[in-house]
Amino acid sequence: MITLARRRAALCALGALTTVLAGCSSGDTTGNGHPGRPAGPAATASPPAPPTLAPGPSGLTPVFSNGSRTQGRTVALTFDADMTVNQGTRAAAGERFDHPELVATLRRLKVPATFFMTGRWAEEYPAQAKAIGKDPLFEVANHSYSHHAFTSDCYGLPTVPPERMRADMERAYDAFRKAGVERPLPYFRFPGGCYDQRALRALAPGGVTAVQWDVVSGDAFATDADAVARQVVDGVRPGSVVVMHCTRSAAPTTERALRTIIPKLRERGFRFVRVSEQIRSTRVAVARGQGASDGRDFTGTP
Ligand SMILES: [Zn+2]
Repeated sequence: MITLARRRAALCALGALTTVLAGCSSGDTTGNGHPGRPAGPAATASPPAPPTLAPGPSGLTPVFSNGSRTQGRTVALTFDADMTVNQGTRAAAGERFDHPELVATLRRLKVPATFFMTGRWAEEYPAQAKAIGKDPLFEVANHSYSHHAFTSDCYGLPTVPPERMRADMERAYDAFRKAGVERPLPYFRFPGGCYDQRALRALAPGGVTAVQWDVVSGDAFATDADAVARQVVDGVRPGSVVVMHCTRSAAPTTERALRTIIPKLRERGFRFVRVSEQIRSTRVAVARGQGASDGRDFTGTP
């Protein structure tokens, strides 16, 4: 299910520059051995690994919620492709958890985007998952397999026990591979945006960067596309990450809202980027000492 997450992710902890620099890994070396990546000699012939953030204190999974505010007017639209593990019967009965028109609109308007896909969604819509993964405009990241919660209190979602958290994430990567998604990114979005230190610890061996957002579109169950568009356009700042949904039954106005959001943000000088670019440019800003935080947060309080 889609949640009505309205909370803004915790503001980035502004570490001392030296700390931040020490925390910035090369991006080509983090996440080694991740199931989404090729391993061994073949890896040398593969494209460079996407940028990630270095782990936090005690190796906690880093959390990214927005990019640099000083590296130009970029904005990353992100789309959660939600499907909960027990929604198969609803899909079989005709409910649509996909949204091909939304994907077509992004393509028509040439808007790069990042899809946070559940493994269950990729199982239900393997051709679409593969096509999104193949399209150079887009990137596919992980939104768990089950869309169950990674904390004990998250909008009524059933909870994944801590010892199953990493397996749930890895099961989604398995589902992506089976669907033919070639290079899913080592980015993870917690269902409902709910996480705590226990969850950050549980996922740490997976080498992922958790990705939250700083702009809530409010598109879940929305009936007024103009209101969604307004909320996004008014909320976006340089470096923003916007959370939206690619699930027609539960976010039916999103595609219409996009047809307003995209030209309005372009009019205001914004350039659309994928999350990987947002993370990369943030790291560049930090390395140059341009007053940016690297966006990491370890408080466990989204
Ligand atoms: Zn979700």
